[in-house]
Amino acid sequence: MRVLKLMASCVAVAAIASIGVSSQSRNPPGAVLYDGGRLIAGDGSAPIEAGAFVVQNGRITAIGRQGEVKAPPGAARVDLAGKTVMPAMINVHVHIGYEGYTTWGAENYTAQNVLDHLQREAFYGTAVTQSVGSSPTDASLQFQRDQQAGKFPPASRFFFMPGMAPPGGGPDAVLRVATTALHVINEVSTAQEARAAVQAMANRKITQVKMWVDDRRGTYPKLTPEVYTAIIDEAHKHQMIVHTHATTLADQKAVVRAGTDVLVHLVQGEKLDEEYLALLKEKKPYWATVIGLGDPTGVCEHDPFFEVALPPKVIATIRATTERRPLAPSCGPPAPTAARREEILAYNFPRMIASGARIVLGTDTGIQPGHTFGSGEHVELARWVQLGLTPSQAIVAATARPAELLGLKDTGTLAAGKRADFIVLDANPLENILNTRRISSVYLDGAKFDRDAMLAKWRKADPSQ
Ligand SMILES: [Zn+2]
Repeated sequence: MRVLKLMASCVAVAAIASIGVSSQSRNPPGAVLYDGGRLIAGDGSAPIEAGAFVVQNGRITAIGRQGEVKAPPGAARVDLAGKTVMPAMINVHVHIGYEGYTTWGAENYTAQNVLDHLQREAFYGTAVTQSVGSSPTDASLQFQRDQQAGKFPPASRFFFMPGMAPPGGGPDAVLRVATTALHVINEVSTAQEARAAVQAMANRKITQVKMWVDDRRGTYPKLTPEVYTAIIDEAHKHQMIVHTHATTLADQKAVVRAGTDVLVHLVQGEKLDEEYLALLKEKKPYWATVIGLGDPTGVCEHDPFFEVALPPKVIATIRATTERRPLAPSCGPPAPTAARREEILAYNFPRMIASGARIVLGTDTGIQPGHTFGSGEHVELARWVQLGLTPSQAIVAATARPAELLGLKDTGTLAAGKRADFIVLDANPLENILNTRRISSVYLDGAKFDRDAMLAKWRKADPSQ
């Protein structure tokens, strides 16, 4: 069964490769001067109010004030007066491949569907998308090789990492069914098994690993300290980065103390204590907050920004779902626990940041049916600002910092030498973070991403739209 599925995805890869890239030029060779826009570098520096930059062969070759940046003779010019430019985003935490928008599950996991999700990410301004713990390793490595070789049309760059859990543990119930069908999770019971699994990943040049440390209120087996300590130790021996899902104060403390590099999720239902804050100050873990998925979706407010990428049927289902479920989109009244959740969030979030947790963009999109890849990023940014970050800090956490975490030296900021991965906005997100949603265009590797073609594709799939 598994072999058949993998073969099916190889066939899908071949089919996509033959589609080619005719609708979009890749890496236009001539130089282009992008002239007159407000430039937000993504590193927290003050914006250049009237800036300019040159792109050649997919890279930014010069950037600075308008009039001071020299374009080579014959360069084309794109007028960006009145626009704002920020780096394209980097999302370090999604679950790609299972959403089919009519069905959801392992049966949808093909290269074609992975590509579809990555195109959705690109549509909304995300240049790099990382699927965490839920992607089959062989198919994912193949997808990366094919994407690097230019076999697919433009899309967000695909990153992934394998997941580790005890037998029967790991992802939430919905995702667990899908990942089990594809044998995705590395199930380990002992430190020895854990080390062997991590070594096997390192041998395949995999640089990151995800583990779940969660008993889901006593309903799931949880990795023991002996096993997760071995995972972290072995991973660090191979210079690998460890992402850990943990949602209780005790578990987050334990995994930060054990040396996890990235924390995933908030502590839920408990206020942080001084012991934990001191530990954060010492260890300074990266932190993928994944707040927005628990919020009411923009679909409930009939916001076209969220609706354009969703089939009407899915929108109708979300609107008809009035019972609030933590990870699934629904439109009912606030859950009875919502006020308490908010109170704890308002208490914990600024303390995590002040203690040195290095916040990075992650959304958990795709973990359950009904999420739109790419729009969740904009929800997460707005949430951070609501909880106390400045818009500039939020943008850094969505661009330069995740690039640093992933060791990506070629993207994440607007600077000479970087890939020309950027978003052109109709309004300034430093004034109002909601302006990241006012996307005029998205460029990946110096080529304008064809957002209109995506809209046309979604409309064609659903003529009723
Ligand atoms: Zn997740």
